[in-house]
Amino acid sequence: MPHFARPIPSRLPGVGTTIFSLMSRLAQDCGAINLSQGFPDYAAPEALLDAVARHMRAGANQYAPMAGALPLREAIAAKVAALYGADYDVDSEITVTAGATQAIFSAIACMVRPGDEVVVFEPVYDSYVPGIRLNGGTPVAARLSFPGYRPDWDDVRRLITPRTRMIMLNSPHNPTGSVWEATDLCQLEALVRDTNIVVVGDEVYEHMVYDGRRHESLARYPALAERSFIVSSFGKTYHATGWKVAYCLAPRELMAEFRKVHQFVAFCVNTPCQLGLADFMKARPDWYAELGRFYQRKRDFFRDLMATTRFELLPCDGTYFQCVRYTGISDEPDCRLAERLTREIGVASIPVSAFYRDGADNRVLRFCFAKNEETLTRAVERLGKL
Ligand code: PMP
Ligand code: GLN
Repeated sequence: MPHFARPIPSRLPGVGTTIFSLMSRLAQDCGAINLSQGFPDYAAPEALLDAVARHMRAGANQYAPMAGALPLREAIAAKVAALYGADYDVDSEITVTAGATQAIFSAIACMVRPGDEVVVFEPVYDSYVPGIRLNGGTPVAARLSFPGYRPDWDDVRRLITPRTRMIMLNSPHNPTGSVWEATDLCQLEALVRDTNIVVVGDEVYEHMVYDGRRHESLARYPALAERSFIVSSFGKTYHATGWKVAYCLAPRELMAEFRKVHQFVAFCVNTPCQLGLADFMKARPDWYAELGRFYQRKRDFFRDLMATTRFELLPCDGTYFQCVRYTGISDEPDCRLAERLTREIGVASIPVSAFYRDGADNRVLRFCFAKNEETLTRAVERLGKL
């Protein structure tokens, strides 16, 4: 330990290493099948890999513009217009970011001041609360109901105060796989009307909604879009989570503030991936619908297998995560069971209590089904022994 005159207090006391790092590490150490951290075990499309390599070899290896490579911003604008009927200006309302994580952090940092309150929904994705705290804000949690994981709008209304600066939502929802409906967006719209509240919409799983549902993007609702930062991630959409390329949409005034932060947090994002993504998006506008069908088949495959075990399947309307209740198998806390399954059965999952600030434990584990059928089959063979 270096010798400081006084101990340096942590900016994030009580925060350790993320559950995703812990479980992936444990899976690796134990040689377990890793259905914990969310990432596919199949490759990004060949044509996308080729396009990125082509740009890299052609010399597109220096800084991209701060807001993102122009062809990619054009492709994003075209996509959002086609899917949600929303018109975002390529120059002033779209920014390419180093993953959704950086977009979310930058949106918080540019809006939240000390003393501001930010409403989040628990179970809450792990980066939101530390992002709020680091910027001096106070997280205020609304709970999604259990086991349906629906928002309770009366509850949310009660949490709103004159200090509420922001509401952060995530649909399709990690970790629960729940999907907000049009009525939820209407409730939200009524709640923020005539306030100064801004909204962050984490829509990284936008193309993974099932059974004929429609993704209710904030971009579809002009009265919400005018006060929203909307975030999506190419990592999810193109099976390339390791590239960490994502984007944020916001109206001009909000985006101007966002870029003041973005330019000093990341400045810009790697150039060849941006140009390759732009080429692929232009060539394959059909990709999004196909991706939804692809993941619905995976969900059904995994659910059919899991139905033969003693785990109880919770609904999964979107994302590539399936939550299960295990009260019929064990009364252990979820963290302990997740660890034991990794060590003893050889299958890693995520304990859902990690997404609650007070560690609320409904005895639920999250499994990532973004895996080859062979991987899923082997995993469920092991889980079936319980
Ligand atoms: N939000 C949610 C809900 C996520 O699940 C993830 C990552 N899996 C992120 C944000 C971060 O995305 P990225 O990897 O693009 O930073
Ligand atoms: N979002 C991914 C998940 O939920 C993990 C991302 C990360 O490891 N930070 O599994």
